[in-house]
Amino acid sequence: MNSHILQIIYLIGSLSFIIGLKMLSKPNTARKGNLIAAFGMTIAIIGTIFLYEGIKTTNYIWIFGGLIIGSVLGTISAKKVQMTQMPEMVSLFNGMGGACAMLISVVEFNHLLHEYSFNSLPQGQVIIIMLGLIIGSISFIGSIVAWGKLSGKIGDLTLKIQQLINIGLLTIILALAVYISIFLPPNALTYFYIIWLLSAIYGILFVMPIGGADMPVVISLLNSFTGVAAAMGGFLYDNKVMLVGGILVGSAGTLLTVVMCKAMNRSLTNVLLGNFGGNSSSSSKSEALGNIQEINTGDTAILLKYASKVIIVPGYGLAVAQAQHVCHELEELLETQGVSVKYAIHPVAGRMPGHMNVLLAESNVSYDKLVEMENINPEFNTTDVVLVVGANDVVNPAAKTDPSSPIYGMPILDVENAKKIVVMKRSMKAGYAGIENMLFYQPKTSMLFGDAKNTLTKIIAEVKAL
Ligand code: NDP
Repeated sequence: MNSHILQIIYLIGSLSFIIGLKMLSKPNTARKGNLIAAFGMTIAIIGTIFLYEGIKTTNYIWIFGGLIIGSVLGTISAKKVQMTQMPEMVSLFNGMGGACAMLISVVEFNHLLHEYSFNSLPQGQVIIIMLGLIIGSISFIGSIVAWGKLSGKIGDLTLKIQQLINIGLLTIILALAVYISIFLPPNALTYFYIIWLLSAIYGILFVMPIGGADMPVVISLLNSFTGVAAAMGGFLYDNKVMLVGGILVGSAGTLLTVVMCKAMNRSLTNVLLGNFGGNSSSSSKSEALGNIQEINTGDTAILLKYASKVIIVPGYGLAVAQAQHVCHELEELLETQGVSVKYAIHPVAGRMPGHMNVLLAESNVSYDKLVEMENINPEFNTTDVVLVVGANDVVNPAAKTDPSSPIYGMPILDVENAKKIVVMKRSMKAGYAGIENMLFYQPKTSMLFGDAKNTLTKIIAEVKAL
């Protein structure tokens, strides 16, 4: 009876994940979607604890101990995190998913060795355990490295023969896994721990060299790895809700990886071999870069008020400054004065996929004002003023003109085609890719220095005063 009720709970849980995921695709339903999926996860966990026959009541203290510690830590960190640290936290949480899948494999392999004699180990389960171990370890360690890189604690490290080392390591890991799965040798446990160690090392080597603005691809890939690793757990325990959840995360992550690869104009093979990005040594760095023109808030306000079409390009600086609300206020003010205002959304702007959409949705910017790169690019040549708010790499023409640049080939927002460009940032410092931006030196461009929130607030006051 209990197992039937549990299957119904799993079905409801699985449905809630699917509905929740669907609702996450629109900012106005995303919050509700998240709650619905969280509800599904909660009933699946509670149902398993109380209705799954294999769980001994003597283990409740461990289960609830873990649940309480995890919930308290998760709640405190989610409440305390700054909006700017959100990408790091997402990476860390993704890593925790990978760690769970990895630990499941470690525990279950030891179980198998106790339950069966070496020559009668169930091969199917061994294969699933191996896959969970390898993918989970890469995802866990890779996400921790990604967290370190996003928070600036870890720099890029590229060895000369990186690609060779990565291929070699992956080959050894897979060969050992196949060997254990097919031959089930008596010293399987030793090989198992070697695979564990090598997978962790691969996780480091796989993410370490990624730089030059290519991190979004890796982050989405790690996301899909975690989903696939969790799905392995679902297979292992014949647990449908875990399987559905894992497959959903895995496939959503894979789709996101494809989208990010397209946005960065990189091939997935290069991502898998850790063969791109790297040091940001743009040739333009040492060259004389020319002069910049500065503009003040008063003149910017005049430009904006008397324009008929304005495009705002938000970037990571908008998140740092927490300027999304005041940016929306400026947009509404200009619209009331008859100016058409849109936002140009680059797929890798910010520090996590969808970062700008999340920020602007938080400040209630209408969803149809957010225009994706391929749709907004043809509009720049009919635009009077482009206001670049804390964006840098995503508007860097080096992506089109400088083959030595680490972002060469990445599609960018064609802001140069507009009549006038105003770039808001605090200094002449580079963006995430660490390279100079020749856009800042073009005659059509004016630099408006200062914190984006303060500067936008001043512009609003100036527009109102005109
Ligand atoms: P960038 O990192 O290129 O540039 C952000 C700019 O914002 C900086 O040049 C900085 O200049 C400015 N800035 C910072 N704080 C403020 C502030 N308070 N007020 C005003 N300006 C500020 O950001 P983009 O969004 O253009 O590009 C994103 C980059 O991050 C890409 O290279 C992308 O590949 C990478 N990335 C993206 C991820 C994703 O998933 N989206 C994940 C990981 C990396 P200054 O210091 O002078 O103010």
